Amino acid sequence: MSEIPEDHPRYDSLITRERIVEGVRIGITSPQGLVAQGRGESFDYLLGECTSESASCAEKVAVAMLLLARRPVISVNGNTAALVPDGLVALSEVTGASLEVNLFHRSETRVGKIIDHLRSHGATDVLGGKGDARIDVNHDRAVVDGAGIYAADVVLVPLEDGDRCQALVHMGKSVIAIDLNPLSRTSRTASVTIVDNVTRAIDNMVELALDMDCTDKDVLRESIVSFDNEDVLSSALELIRERLLYISGGIV
Ligand code: ATP
Ligand code: MG
Repeated sequence: MSEIPEDHPRYDSLITRERIVEGVRIGITSPQGLVAQGRGESFDYLLGECTSESASCAEKVAVAMLLLARRPVISVNGNTAALVPDGLVALSEVTGASLEVNLFHRSETRVGKIIDHLRSHGATDVLGGKGDARIDVNHDRAVVDGAGIYAADVVLVPLEDGDRCQALVHMGKSVIAIDLNPLSRTSRTASVTIVDNVTRAIDNMVELALDMDCTDKDVLRESIVSFDNEDVLSSALELIRERLLYISGGIV
């Protein structure tokens, strides 16, 4: 990786780019993943590159859902495997959720490489290699494990495609998305949308899960019932509007 001085004003963002480029170099991230990261970065810039209050709220509800779920699964793609492998493994451990590799540009080689990569970061059991079931979308993300995403009641889908998010919701699953674009089809169709960078969201969720593990189950349930995803999306758009007004001195 290139040397980035720690006092560089864009240190976090540049390190994130380096990780994605490294992911492509070692064959776990697709070249198209670089473009997806770019779209995310542009929204992160507009959102102020920090976790907003409403994103923090959504992260809390998402953790409550994972802790209460019977069969929670965390879906892993090439970008998340490159950016937050330790966080994914830690979140899986503290919530009891399984990890499952699921790719838009699927090849058995890349699935195998991501499984090995997660194992090298401490994962014991990673699903996604079987691909013995399908969900209702007409691209490679349809391929899932029968004992994993197919049978899950709660699925965490960082950096998802809108159509698969919709298909999972149609199957009756609760879907948690992490997506910096509050306008994407994924954000608009998920049960809970975390409008935050996956690099911050996953770490926040690990901390929350450790804190909330002993919380009364009824209290967790209540937080889910009173959650409104429309509010989260409106808050993110309002935050972008306020920042644009502030930066432009009210010209926008
Ligand atoms: P959709 O299919 O939901 O309409 P899309 O086609 O615009 O979304 P995709 O290319 O399918 O987007 O997936 C990339 C999505 O992931 C984008 O919405 C982008 O904002 C988001 N994204 C990229 N990098 C990150 C990141 N580091 N953290 C959170 N979200 C990210
Ligand atoms: Mg898409």
